Amino acid sequence: MCVFCQIVKGEIPADKVYEDKNYLAFKDIRPKAPVHILIIPKEHIEKLTDIDESNKHIMGDMTVIANKIAKELGIDKSGYRIVINNGPDAGQEVYHIHMHLLGGKRLIFAT
Ligand code: AMP
Ligand code: ZN
Repeated sequence: MCVFCQIVKGEIPADKVYEDKNYLAFKDIRPKAPVHILIIPKEHIEKLTDIDESNKHIMGDMTVIANKIAKELGIDKSGYRIVINNGPDAGQEVYHIHMHLLGGKRLIFAT
C-alpha cells in the first residue's frame, strides 16, 4: 500500500489540516515553504494522467479544498501556488495523486 493510503488508513501519522469523506489534507513532512500542505483524494489514484471524464471532479474538489485551507491559514490575499507533479520528469515521488499548496513567502522555485 502506498504511503498516502497508509495515512488515509491511520497506519502512519500525519499532521492533518482538513478531512472529509473523500479527501484529506495534511502538512508536507519536508516543507518547502512556510505553508506547505498536500491535498489528496482518499481513493488511490496514481497520477494526474489517470484523471479523465469519469473522475475530473476530483480536480475541482481538491482546488476548492486548497482555497478553503489557504483562507484558514491566512494566505488567500498574499497568494499561493498549486503544484501537481506528474510522473518521473516532474519528479513525482509519491504515486498517489496530490496537490501541493505552497505559500507564506514569495515563491521562486516550484516544489
Ligand atoms: P511529489 O514530488 O509531488 O510526489 O511530492 C511528494 C511529497 O510528499 C514531498 O513533498 C514529500 O515531502 C511529501 N511526503 C512524503 N511522505 C510524506 C509523509 N509521510 N507525510 C507528509 N508528507 C510526505
Ligand atoms: Zn495510495
